[in-house]
Amino acid sequence: MYRHQFTCGTETALLPGKIVCVGRNYAAHAEELHNPLPEAPLLFIKPTTAAVPMSDPIHLPAGRGGCHFEGELALLIGEKLTGANAADVPPAIAGLGLALDLTLRELQSQLKKDGHPWEKAKAFDGACPLSPFVKLDWLPDWDQLTYTLWLNRELRQRGKTAHMLTPILDLAAYISTYFTLLPGDVVLTGTPAGVGELLRGDKIVMQLEDDWLRVETQVA
Ligand code: ZN
Repeated sequence: MYRHQFTCGTETALLPGKIVCVGRNYAAHAEELHNPLPEAPLLFIKPTTAAVPMSDPIHLPAGRGGCHFEGELALLIGEKLTGANAADVPPAIAGLGLALDLTLRELQSQLKKDGHPWEKAKAFDGACPLSPFVKLDWLPDWDQLTYTLWLNRELRQRGKTAHMLTPILDLAAYISTYFTLLPGDVVLTGTPAGVGELLRGDKIVMQLEDDWLRVETQVA
């Protein structure tokens, strides 16, 4: 069963909760999927059962069409946030990590077309591989973070928080006006351009900054 980990090896008492995600938080990614930019953050939730350790092999759901990777920066929530302002958010973030928002793209397109919710395409078991989290006992420059995703050694995604349509602290505050964030919840902050389909045997490497965090996984 999935448990949150810190990179320093220390255990965390934070129990996995819901995973709140934002769609289309990078303009270039919205464009690559020919989606209009949302006027306000487009939110959806993955349940606890979607979380798996990033180091585990990825099992693509069989018979449900193509599964895309979306590399994203993840926030581990350490304190309750409800109706928060951006200024309330930094002390409530316990850690920074990396995540894959796995998406059954054809199924999602069909659900969108039918005006149905996206959960079957994005909230299935194992749909959210999570890295260990860098424990934040200092305050990073939230709008100057960079993370990178390589697929089979090819650079595919480079996310810069400076390019987010809704910056990290505003995003977590906004989310908390709809869904109270509890200790152990995770926020996924959206994916930059460069998403694509995963195939058996593919190898993914993700890195946060130059040396904060590096994780690898492989498609089974
Ligand atoms: Zn996403």
